[in-house]
Amino acid sequence: MAEPILSARGLTKYYPIKDGVIRRTVGHVKAVDGVDLDLHPGETLGIVGESGCGKSTLGRLLMRLEDPTDGTITFQGESLHDKQGAALRRLRRDIQIVFQDPYTSLNPRMTVGDIIGEAFEIHPDAVGKGGRRQRVQELLEQVGLNPEHINRYPHQFSGGQRQRIGIARGIALNPKVLICDEPVSALDVSVQAQVVNLLERLQDELGLAYVFIAHDLAVVRHISDRVGVMYLGKMVELGDEEQIYERPTHPYTQALLSAVPLPNPELRGKREQIMLSGDVPSPANPPSGCRFHTRCWKATEVCSQQLPVLEDRPDGVGAHPSACHHAQVRRVVPVD
Ligand code: ADP
Ligand code: MG
Repeated sequence: MAEPILSARGLTKYYPIKDGVIRRTVGHVKAVDGVDLDLHPGETLGIVGESGCGKSTLGRLLMRLEDPTDGTITFQGESLHDKQGAALRRLRRDIQIVFQDPYTSLNPRMTVGDIIGEAFEIHPDAVGKGGRRQRVQELLEQVGLNPEHINRYPHQFSGGQRQRIGIARGIALNPKVLICDEPVSALDVSVQAQVVNLLERLQDELGLAYVFIAHDLAVVRHISDRVGVMYLGKMVELGDEEQIYERPTHPYTQALLSAVPLPNPELRGKREQIMLSGDVPSPANPPSGCRFHTRCWKATEVCSQQLPVLEDRPDGVGAHPSACHHAQVRRVVPVD
């Protein structure tokens, strides 16, 4: 496989919890806790996990919207740390983000032309020969919007169209990596497929690599080449789309898969139901050892004492990384 375009090692983000009038730090929310990942040129890496497990924080760290507490990020072999000013702006241009909520992520007082073209203020050289207006109109066309609507405001568009505007803004500077943080979660199901199709077409046309964050496992399976499963700030399983969906070895992945809605009622009946006990523990006070042990039906003493390493474990056909002391393949979703 080609060299990764974007890599993270030991990526960590702890948010201080402040208390009292003197704002003393009384603890930390361990939002992202030692994540390693590689993103290869042109691929889609899906990131799944329940709300609060650190997906958005991971996305913001990867594009340096926030500084990590610890760990490293490398983009095309260059470290993203110790870069400031112009050097950081140049690197950041290649990594862009599309946010979840097309209703709040677009400034209501700006025209779509100004929203999409805003990045050209900092990077005028990205405009091209035809000028800013022409480039913005090209971008509108590229995402399936009418270029004549360049002077309209966000409220004049539907949810799906607004997300297209967000995507146009994301690709305006010709990035190599697009972080998509739940880009379709706020949209109607019928519109979701259109936006996913648009992202797939743009990936082919522009050679983009995606980090595609979502809690909907069905959407992630459709779009991803590889998938990472997060639980309480940690990556617990990582593999090809087929390995994760057909040969999951981590109990948490198996539980998530058992809750995916299946369109075919016959298959639904055949699917195993795995009910998880209890709620997700607080990331301010995560369980010792394996973070998942308090809800896991396979947990033994070792699980509360030793943090399992994310490493290759047999999956019945080959092996792929899973952070479980008792990793064992269990097919949850039946083949259709
Ligand atoms: P997800 O996107 O998977 O729902 P997030 O990355 O948004 O998860 O959040 C992970 C954890 O970090 C949550 O407990 C959340 O409350 C906390 N968190 C996220 N952002 C901040 C912040 N800026 N300050 C403090 N805590 C935060
Ligand atoms: Mg999120």
